[in-house]
Amino acid sequence: APVIVWFRQDLRLADNPALSLAAASGAPVIPLFVLEEGGRPLGGASRWWLHHALARLAGSLAALGSPLVLRRGEPAAVLDALIAETGADTVLWNRRYEPDAVAVDSAIKAGLRERGLTVRSHNAALLFEPWEIRNKSGDPFRVFTPFWRACLGAPPPPRPLPAPVSLTSPAKPVTGDALDGWGLPPTKPDWAGGLREAWVPGEAAAREGLLDFLDGPVATYGGDRDRPGIDGTSRLSPHLRFGEIGPRQVWHAARHAADARPGAAPGVDAFLREIGWREFSVHLLHANPGLPDTPLDPRFAAFPWTDDAAAAGAWRRGRTGYPIVDAGMRQLWETGWMHNRVRMIAASFLIKDLLQPWQTGEAWFWDTLVDADAANNAAGWQWVAGCGADAAPFFRVFNPILQGEKFDPDGAYVRRFVPELAKLPDAWIHKPWQAPPAVLCAAGVTIGRDYPAPIIDHALARDRALAAFKAVKGEG
Ligand code: FAD
Repeated sequence: APVIVWFRQDLRLADNPALSLAAASGAPVIPLFVLEEGGRPLGGASRWWLHHALARLAGSLAALGSPLVLRRGEPAAVLDALIAETGADTVLWNRRYEPDAVAVDSAIKAGLRERGLTVRSHNAALLFEPWEIRNKSGDPFRVFTPFWRACLGAPPPPRPLPAPVSLTSPAKPVTGDALDGWGLPPTKPDWAGGLREAWVPGEAAAREGLLDFLDGPVATYGGDRDRPGIDGTSRLSPHLRFGEIGPRQVWHAARHAADARPGAAPGVDAFLREIGWREFSVHLLHANPGLPDTPLDPRFAAFPWTDDAAAAGAWRRGRTGYPIVDAGMRQLWETGWMHNRVRMIAASFLIKDLLQPWQTGEAWFWDTLVDADAANNAAGWQWVAGCGADAAPFFRVFNPILQGEKFDPDGAYVRRFVPELAKLPDAWIHKPWQAPPAVLCAAGVTIGRDYPAPIIDHALARDRALAAFKAVKGEG
């Protein structure tokens, strides 16, 4: 009888345990993707990515001999219908960790097993399962450094599986939806031009991206990873998010690169540590289902956020008057991605300078990031807000001028995404409103006309944030 392989966040052939098991069974394989109803709707940038990821996956599966079946609806009902149609007796998948997805998957597994079907789930998304890495009391870690130490001390993750070389297709073709009919990419208006220019979704591009990164930039990753003007990071985040590549593949390829090029070893360690932060976020979400909207530190539930739609709107559009913040927000809007250092600066600005709830920023990132991920996004926002696990303390407020000067010293990043400031000299690129009139004139910039004046004075905003924070901590 046929075996159904339910693809979800593992849109690849290599190192895909569910697919490998199905291929090895020799039975006909029905690869399935379900556009799910229910749960948090995907953001716009994620919908664009998913469309292209599915198109590539469908091409690869067709080449192996078994086309991808697309269906839409509640997964339990979709699976029931497919089982009834095809007589499949086995359903295989790789696990997901978002609480609502875990609930859906557990209910389906129990229901199908009750009816005598074989159901197996596997790990394809993590180096270590959340239940494998625990502290001495058997609880999930809440601090990153000991968490990562425990990961590095555990037996290394298994070597990645090769992609199957062929699949048996069911005797009778299985019908499904046409991908284009799902309307995942934007049409009216089509705002995805910047995404198309910046990215190639799919397993092949993910693999190539990893190898290119390990051949070059990884050697200087330790220092360059904080420089948004340099392409110093891997840009694997959307590929990891959709499972076009898995962390075991990254781990073993990176270790191999370090062995082959000893000079690159410190860079490899620093890079794998960031993969470790991804693991940490997923483990945190698994242990704290409320992570995407509820502060882990309960004192923050009473934080006196302000409600300033105009300020939040200026932040979203990249018109705060702080060049490093605006460059980041425009990079996000144009390319669906923002450099990690700038994510921290822009998030801090929204939360601490503008006193907007971190959930407002989380929601915008969710909609606009191609790598929008329930665990990493929420953990990132809670970390910056100071209410997360192992978070930056609230009283540490990023100064957007000093951050810009330190991490984008030649203004290369600001010039790329805020072109109206491109002609300003380095000395003023991060504080254009303080530049002498002659300098502004020479650069062709009138503050308030070509580029906004700061929407808030950072020093005053910082005092306001610290006062609000004191009230929450009961120290006011
Ligand atoms: P690299 O530096 O090459 O790192 C390799 C991989 O490690 C990344 O692809 C990513 O999977 C993981 N990683 C790196 N940094 C982090 C981190 N700080 N936390 C968790 N994982 C990390 N990352 C997402 O994947 N999705 C999100 O929705 C997301 N939202 C964020 C929101 C905020 C407010 C902040 C501060 C960070 C967020 N991050 C998120 C983490 C980080 O910014 C991105 O993973 C990183 O910028 C991706 O670029 P890269 O692939 O070149 O990273």
